[in-house]
Amino acid sequence: MENRTEISDLGEFGLIDHLTKNFEIRNASTILGIGDDAAVIDHFGKQTVVSTDMLVEGVHFDLMYTPLRHLGYKSVIVNLSDIYAMNATPTQITMNIAFSNRFSVEALDEFYEGVFAACEKYNVDLIGGDTTSSNKGFIISVTAIGEITPGKAVKRSGAQPGDLLCVSGFLGGAFLGLTILEREKKIYLESPGVQPDLEEQQYIVGRMLKPEARKDIIEFFEQQNIVPTSMMDVSDGLSSETLHICKQSMVGCKIYEDKIPIHDDAKQFAYKLELDPTACALSGGEDYELLFTIPQSEHDKIVLNEEISVIGYLTDIEEGVHIITKGGSTHKLTAQGWNAFAQ
Ligand code: ADP
Ligand code: MG
Repeated sequence: MENRTEISDLGEFGLIDHLTKNFEIRNASTILGIGDDAAVIDHFGKQTVVSTDMLVEGVHFDLMYTPLRHLGYKSVIVNLSDIYAMNATPTQITMNIAFSNRFSVEALDEFYEGVFAACEKYNVDLIGGDTTSSNKGFIISVTAIGEITPGKAVKRSGAQPGDLLCVSGFLGGAFLGLTILEREKKIYLESPGVQPDLEEQQYIVGRMLKPEARKDIIEFFEQQNIVPTSMMDVSDGLSSETLHICKQSMVGCKIYEDKIPIHDDAKQFAYKLELDPTACALSGGEDYELLFTIPQSEHDKIVLNEEISVIGYLTDIEEGVHIITKGGSTHKLTAQGWNAFAQ
């Protein structure tokens, strides 16, 4: 049997100290971190960007197939992704957790291993948090803080007719990863003796359990002196995010189905399940890619980056939001994906 240390053996303060003692500060802007009543941040004349997210067991994650280390990593990543989506650089996070006595010190250590790995990779400081109990289930709330040069923040509302619609990486993989994990969970619950068969689908399972935030894209913008006219991260699916940008920018849009980037492994697995890969990209969530718009004059710079796909362009609002299929027909885009019956 594995070691199990009860939280009560350490006490609340002992636990916080145990979880956070090896954490070192990386940013000059972190003046005071963990250990006092509040942290102190100096952003040296830059502007501060703040975003917060909550993850609830049974709603946002399932511990049956989510290793705690991955959960710690992902809970940081989803917040950093929001900061990058503002064209900002994340610098600090706070971590609030609530858990029942089902959790041991070792379990929380594993969770924090993931938190620290993400902090290290993305160069952010953990500067505080709160630790409390819950009657049932694990609850995580992370706040991410970032900095940005005044005037560089990119909102959802700045897209103009004629701009190009672009997206980073590949879409739809996380949804397919979730689909296989949920399938295997169901089989396991019906016959616990059966070993889960993930069919060596490392790519899609990884997209679900261990997403990354697109720091590289923000760095590319900086190097190339590109400021997108609008941007957001893809957490709910391409359809829903495109509709947000169009609504908030008061523009219309045309997306070309054949330009939507879908990884080959994701495509193959979708076909196997008789799912439409395009539908997975449009409606599946949790890809944490960046969706953004740029003026056409930036086209030649954008194509230098193989991680970026131009998938369509913006129009006047009267033209609506449509997808042009591989077959050449035009369909209205809905938050659920696209309605094959409406024109
Ligand atoms: P208070 O009683 O003032 O809320 P706490 O005892 O909760 O203070 O926290 C003590 C210090 O430890 C603070 O700096 C707080 O931000 C930090 N902290 C508490 N819980 C966590 C956690 N889960 N992860 C990281 N830091 C934490
Ligand atoms: Mg507290």
